[in-house]
Amino acid sequence: MEVPPIREIVTLPHPCLTKKAETIADTVSGLQEAIDVIRHLENALHPHVPAAGLAAPQIGISKQVFIFSWNRTSEPEAVINPSFEAVNDDMTQSWEGCFSTPLAMAQIPRYQMILATYTNRQGDRVTYRLSGFAARAFQHEYDHLTGTMTVHRKDAVIRHFKTQEERQKFLAEIKKGDQADYRQPEKIGG
Ligand SMILES: [Zn+2]
Repeated sequence: MEVPPIREIVTLPHPCLTKKAETIADTVSGLQEAIDVIRHLENALHPHVPAAGLAAPQIGISKQVFIFSWNRTSEPEAVINPSFEAVNDDMTQSWEGCFSTPLAMAQIPRYQMILATYTNRQGDRVTYRLSGFAARAFQHEYDHLTGTMTVHRKDAVIRHFKTQEERQKFLAEIKKGDQADYRQPEKIGG
């Protein structure tokens, strides 16, 4: 089988990062297209594992597909044409990194618990209750599909770093805090 070339992760100001991604068609060929995108995403993310996720616009593909991991270590879940709703108004603040803004971190308020609905890689429409870090990671990747970067959100506190080392040190501390917030997704539909 042919191995697809590894696609580069793009950074701002790449135009894909700031436009709305296209919906995947609800057909057999649509699912096949999504699966190809998922393979590209997994290949591009692989060198960075453990990582929270990656969205198609971040590899220059403007489609509604992303992968994410609820604990930065599990096999990433593939998400196609997602939507979500907040379970209640509870919000939490935390710092988020993004591969597309390599020298910045953003502190963003996110819903603590959401119901996330999407098509998975088997083509099934499923709903999960996500909370804590999983909910945050999902909302971060979802933002990419709407063309919203963390550093552009009005509710973000941004921190810029001079070097990758400086940022990695900061991120390592954040990851420790995230670990206390790892909650396994709970399937509630589909
Ligand atoms: Zn991101």
